Amino acid sequence: MEKKIGVYICSGCDIDKAIDVEGLEKVATNEMKAAVCKTHPFLCSQAGLQVMKDDQNNEGVNSFVVAACSARYHQEDFDFGAESIVVRAGIREMVAWTLELRNEEGVVNEDTQMAGEDYIRMYVARIKGQNIPQPYLLESTDKSVLVVGGGVAGMTSALEAAKAGYDVNLVEKTDKLGGYAAGYKSMVPPQPPYLGVVPNYVADIVSEVEGNGNITVHTSSTIESIEGEPGDFTVKVEGSGAEFKSGAIVLAAGSVPYDVSKLTHLGSDLDNVITSAEFEAMAKSGAIKTKDGQSPKSVVFIQCAGSCDPDHLPYCSSTCCLTSLKQASYIREMDPEAKAYIVYKNMRTPGQYEDFYKSQQDDPGVFLTKGDVSAVKDESGKVAVDVDNTLLGQDIQIKADLVVLATGQVPVTINEDDSFLNLQYRQGPEMPELKYGYPDSHFVCFPYETRRTGIYAAGTVRQSMDVNAAKRDAAGAALKAIQCIEMTARGERVHPRSGDMTFMEPNLQRCTDCKRCTEECPFGAIDENEKGTPLPKSARCRACGTCMGACPERVISFDDYSIPMLSEMIKAIEIPEEEDEKPRVLAFICENDALPVLDQMALMRVRMNPYIRYIPLRCLGGNNLVFVSDALSVGIDGVMYLGCKHGDDYQCHFVKGSELCNERLGKVQETIGRLSLESERVQQYEVSMNDAGPEKLPKIIDDFMEELEDYGPNPFKGF
Ligand code: SF4
Ligand code: SF4
Repeated sequence: MEKKIGVYICSGCDIDKAIDVEGLEKVATNEMKAAVCKTHPFLCSQAGLQVMKDDQNNEGVNSFVVAACSARYHQEDFDFGAESIVVRAGIREMVAWTLELRNEEGVVNEDTQMAGEDYIRMYVARIKGQNIPQPYLLESTDKSVLVVGGGVAGMTSALEAAKAGYDVNLVEKTDKLGGYAAGYKSMVPPQPPYLGVVPNYVADIVSEVEGNGNITVHTSSTIESIEGEPGDFTVKVEGSGAEFKSGAIVLAAGSVPYDVSKLTHLGSDLDNVITSAEFEAMAKSGAIKTKDGQSPKSVVFIQCAGSCDPDHLPYCSSTCCLTSLKQASYIREMDPEAKAYIVYKNMRTPGQYEDFYKSQQDDPGVFLTKGDVSAVKDESGKVAVDVDNTLLGQDIQIKADLVVLATGQVPVTINEDDSFLNLQYRQGPEMPELKYGYPDSHFVCFPYETRRTGIYAAGTVRQSMDVNAAKRDAAGAALKAIQCIEMTARGERVHPRSGDMTFMEPNLQRCTDCKRCTEECPFGAIDENEKGTPLPKSARCRACGTCMGACPERVISFDDYSIPMLSEMIKAIEIPEEEDEKPRVLAFICENDALPVLDQMALMRVRMNPYIRYIPLRCLGGNNLVFVSDALSVGIDGVMYLGCKHGDDYQCHFVKGSELCNERLGKVQETIGRLSLESERVQQYEVSMNDAGPEKLPKIIDDFMEELEDYGPNPFKGF
């Protein structure tokens, strides 16, 4: 496409209180040779947008540089159709709202003006290399959903998708549907008034699934293999022998109780100490008995049996307290003279289950006490439970006929012998897990998403939860699967850049088959042939650009995001002479967290350092080391990377991006050394949405600038 570039500068929103917009116009036209440049006092208004539309229709402008608010605002307003390109230079936030205003005489601050002019240069340079994104259309798209796991979560996902009109294949490894919860005697209440247990409703869900014509059930079956990508998975089933296509997958394989043999300090090896699962099975069979067949008159429930314990499961399983409260009611129902004692560290009954807790607490035969269990031992035919640090301050001993350990939940995926999906992906058959074995891709922002695009986790395989919560969870995952199917059919990215239509494209003529991209893609989106040549499966790609940052040959690009585009932005920055004492620092800023934090600074009108030039990255994983050498060799004094926390409890939206950036920067010393510069000129900092306040980001920047002063100006200035 032959580009006709128009630059449109907004002078509203107090932009002209800081910037001489006529000066910016001169840069756009005289220096950057934009075909058209116009200023408007309210660019996002109907009148302002009309100016741009008129230029599109009458002047043939097809590439728009909008110098106005941050790209996070007015995305739909500044959209001029599929045949036009738009880039957003956020001079309102990056300049006018965060740098010095004009003085009382109305004279602009020189540094503020220089920043504004640089952003015009940078974004005109960028748009010159940008292309119009094209949808990724598969030859054929399948719109059915595969659900793996026939418990409550799996069945509910299947039903929700089926009720929305989608065909579903439901694969269950046992010979019947129902899962773990089918063995419950009763359920904690799923709805108001949350006062007492309710009858087990799993059989009703099973009947509904079996009666739904959109659902094909494969029992006694497991997944032999899954190949392909969202919209076009090929699934082979071992057991039923079926083979079919699927557009998206819900993994609802469930959980297992924590291994009780590891809890001997709680008496797990004693005869009359059992787990809550064993107790439930006895209750369901109608006979709660001690080892010698007696009906217990007293039962102690020990909470957090494994959970909330750094030596076992460091997390709260969030269901065991509810289960014990429910099971205490069984004792009381069985024998009104029998007593239940619940010893807890913290009683946790999330949300409206508080009312259920209170209803059980009101029962005079149910005793609840906070405390630490220090010993569980056999004592004259009873089990004695020693409890320290009780609420009353006393250490107590409770003698009971039966002790129930409220064991925590562990996702089935933690068992390495079990392979649920058998993905035929270059990166292996299963999806990667978080540190506790849950196959979620992000603790905070993206429930259901796993690190394999188009595969959604639901229920207790995703996070410990009770059966009612698993039903809600399953509905959410089914909706995500439907969203995936529909967006993939349109050739659009599903997540997290929803609607994006740019896909990584390696220039294979210059590829050296080094496999860096196939290894580093956090989402297993790139397979490879036997030579190691990358074979992108674009519907799996999330457009993070991590592969672009990894590629040593710099041959991976996106239509609207590439190394040449970003390098041209860097080279467009005007570098003052050394004697001007105006350092220049480049800050690559993650658009998911750090950029919104900067926008928050702007809203608060926090004054920031005027010598920084920000370049947003989709993820710090897009950092290619060539950016460092480009920047330092044109005289930039320092380079900052501002992005998400990495490590086990990462916040990176693309899982590995900020960690990989950090690793790459560890190797950058060699490059910097070749230029005889100090390695400290390039640093990465963690910035999260919690840092949206005047303290952290300005301080990070000021400290970095102070450190740079010690090294003096980059000697490459002027070359
Ligand atoms: S690294 Fe990111 S951009 Fe590259 S293929 Fe993987 S998901 Fe796509
Ligand atoms: S990282 Fe670059 S050179 Fe290496 S295999 Fe991928 S595309 Fe080829």
